[in-house]
Amino acid sequence: MTAPARPAAEGDGAPIPLARPVVGEREEELVLTTLRSGQLSLGPLLGDFERAFADRLGVGHASAVSSGTAGLHLALRAAGVEAGDEVITTPLSFVASANAIVYEGARPVFCDIDRRTLNLDPGAVGAAIGPRTRGLLPVHIFGYPADLPAFERLARGHDLFVVEDACEALGAHHADGPPVGARGNLAVFGFYPNKQLTTGEGGMVVCPDGAAKARIDSERNQGRAPDMSWLDHDRLGYNYRLSELACALGLAQLERLDELLAARRSLAAGYAERLSAPDRPAALDGLELPCPDAGGDRRSPFAYVVQVPAGADRDAAIAALRARGIDSKPYLPAIHLMSFYRERFGHLEGELPVCEDVARRSLALPFFPGLSDTETDRVCTALAEALAVCSA
Ligand SMILES: *Cc1c(COP(=O)(O)O)cnc(C)c1O
Repeated sequence: MTAPARPAAEGDGAPIPLARPVVGEREEELVLTTLRSGQLSLGPLLGDFERAFADRLGVGHASAVSSGTAGLHLALRAAGVEAGDEVITTPLSFVASANAIVYEGARPVFCDIDRRTLNLDPGAVGAAIGPRTRGLLPVHIFGYPADLPAFERLARGHDLFVVEDACEALGAHHADGPPVGARGNLAVFGFYPNKQLTTGEGGMVVCPDGAAKARIDSERNQGRAPDMSWLDHDRLGYNYRLSELACALGLAQLERLDELLAARRSLAAGYAERLSAPDRPAALDGLELPCPDAGGDRRSPFAYVVQVPAGADRDAAIAALRARGIDSKPYLPAIHLMSFYRERFGHLEGELPVCEDVARRSLALPFFPGLSDTETDRVCTALAEALAVCSA
């Protein structure tokens, strides 16, 4: 959902994109040094980036890969998924979390979501576990922690694996202590330009132990073991490597991750304050905002996704926002109702009513560090105007 980078402009009616990566002098310096080093892949920065990321999260092992999707694929393989298995996952996600299950010939079993958090509902998951269920793949959607304690209990009781899609949740925390991705499960982060941290394209798999990391390191590199010579391969592998240039960018972003995360938190707070102000325009009544942190779980805001009031025409609101120079997106569509998933797995409308209602009403607003107060004001004013004409 990233728009092309445009120079920052504010207050003058310039178009406001949905997302924009924040890269500065340090990123330029590290990338340029790497460019001049003569080593553009499989060099020293790969291990440096993995160690710095693992340290930041407080975990022992991490494996850098070419995308979040590639990371999900290798994590599912490392978890032991096989053709014919069922993996329970959420229908309200970026399509990659379900696609990775299909890559291995397994079947994604979609369960409905919790209306408050928009994450996979543990009650629905418990009811869907059957003889072919092999694992659970919860997603921390929009940066809000999924209920991992509940999923881990279910997994222990039924001998299932847990792979976490943490692609949108770098910097989030669970109520029971650990940062998202640091619970000891295989967990996958993504570094596409709209994420909390970017490497252009890229991802990271947090591994529970050295053996999982060794397997993923090998499979990302065509199945070569670390002690084997070039062009010798002892298992099926892929080219899911992350280049040195991407690692350089990632290292620079990690150095200022706290600043990037703080900017997103303050931006989310700014939206919430404006959109829920007692004197807000009446057209905003019935608008649902991202749930506030509750019970000790802490969101790391990834996108700012609202749900238009029931009865409002979301797609007309998007068009009205566009007419005012503001980019927004229907985010996210329900995966089980995408044509590929309908055709391959026979899904029908009405199967997952909470997800489908949220998917019909959800709207992502511009959200990236660097969005100014003036621009945030403009988005909120335009949203009120858009809803006033779309809620008739
Ligand atoms: C970004 C994202 C991914 C991975 O995307 P890539 O573009 O492959 O890095 C996976 N799942 C979710 C929920 C995401 O938001």
